[in-house]
Amino acid sequence: MEHQSNDLQDRDHKFLTKAIEEAYKAVESGDGGPFGAVVVRNDEIVVSCHNLVNKHTDPTAHAEVTAVREACTKLNQIDLSDCELYTSCEPCPMCLGAINLSRIKRMVFGAKAEAATASGFVYFIQDAITGTDSYQKANLEIIQADGRDAVIAEQLNNKTIPAAAAEERATDCICNGWPIHHHNLL
Ligand SMILES: [Zn+2]
Repeated sequence: MEHQSNDLQDRDHKFLTKAIEEAYKAVESGDGGPFGAVVVRNDEIVVSCHNLVNKHTDPTAHAEVTAVREACTKLNQIDLSDCELYTSCEPCPMCLGAINLSRIKRMVFGAKAEAATASGFVYFIQDAITGTDSYQKANLEIIQADGRDAVIAEQLNNKTIPAAAAEERATDCICNGWPIHHHNLL
């Protein structure tokens, strides 16, 4: 663990405490599991969210995904690279993916995933890394298509990934060339 100044520790403590308060709110309200997440920009809280899986009848409504969504909506931007995320618990693979896609620059988490596992949540990072436990329990079979489907999918990638080439043609388009200029998909 790298050394942090006392100021930074106090600051992290303040925002992490807020995320933990949200986790309690999730349980007290019945909205979902005991998880909270806070997005911070320039030392100010942008959004403070908790797990809404029960409330929204949505297994993807984890605190971190909810926080990323709400922060993007509130800031009207899809890039949160000027933001930090504080989360009460080590994020699951889905949330880590969402955090990564949003380009959040820094994440601070409270509990290790083992704590979440102890409270009945068993789909966390170590499982993803080891490919064991919940991934097997879920009976989820993951296969990569072969034959023609795979070729078509790979051609789509090959056509669309070089965004720089697309941007040359994107100057008069509202999509602004990000992340894939839509003309390339036509
Ligand atoms: Zn999650």
